[in-house]
Amino acid sequence: MNFIVLTIFPEMFDAFWAHGIIRRAIDQEKIVTSTINIRDYASGRHQMTDDRPYGGGSGMVMKPEPLAAGIRAAKRRAPFAKSILLTPQGRKFNQHTAQQLASWEELILVCGRYEGVDGRISHEFIDYEISIGDYVLTGGELAAMVVIEAVTRLIPGILGGEDSAKKDSFSDGLLEHDHYTRPRNFEGEEVPEVLLSGHHQEIEQWRLGSSVMRTLLKRPDLLQKKKLGEQEIEILKKWYREIEKLLNLHHREH
Ligand code: SAM
Repeated sequence: MNFIVLTIFPEMFDAFWAHGIIRRAIDQEKIVTSTINIRDYASGRHQMTDDRPYGGGSGMVMKPEPLAAGIRAAKRRAPFAKSILLTPQGRKFNQHTAQQLASWEELILVCGRYEGVDGRISHEFIDYEISIGDYVLTGGELAAMVVIEAVTRLIPGILGGEDSAKKDSFSDGLLEHDHYTRPRNFEGEEVPEVLLSGHHQEIEQWRLGSSVMRTLLKRPDLLQKKKLGEQEIEILKKWYREIEKLLNLHHREH
């Protein structure tokens, strides 16, 4: 996967490329990363990348010419690339979008600043607009990093276990199960016994139960959207019966 980021702050990416999974993916040649400084394509003595908005109002707008020239330069490097504008007005980014993007070979990510980019850039030069959430950041750089990291984790061979990404939260419509590591007893709380049993099938069953219940408690909206399997329905029914028993007991006592 070839990621090309257009930004007026390319230095922000130096640390990002140099650590963790992104660094590993670069070292293993699973991804190629580069930045294009939009300012390099700006003309005039001051190489301005922004200007006042037509129609008045506060704030500045990113000028179209440097952005267009930068995107054209990126397309010369990556002719099949899709171009993505990071904007709070875009389609909300999620695991499904990350999976879709992971199937492409080349991505150009355009980071806005100020009040955003000139409308003609979004109309003519951008294939997709992506938002990382319903809040407003000062620039698209952090959003681009979020997208790049989420997509990179999905590239086969990047994570330790071949199927780690498949088990991550959201990949199958559920949150991931609880995790535990040593020590066995931490400040009085024990690791669930079944995880120490070495019984693979029981562990898988426990993990599915943990996953379903976490989703029910933390993100019930996900369960509403998911097509539940037989096992998942059975887990929910079991908990429903437990809750019913508790309620009946409570009812009898009062
Ligand atoms: N005035 C714009 C609006 O209200 O839609 C917001 C501009 S914001 C201050 C500056 C830049 O930050 C945007 O052009 C975009 O690139 C980036 N940005 C801000 N919030 C974002 C979000 N939630 N997702 C993706 N990019 C975002």
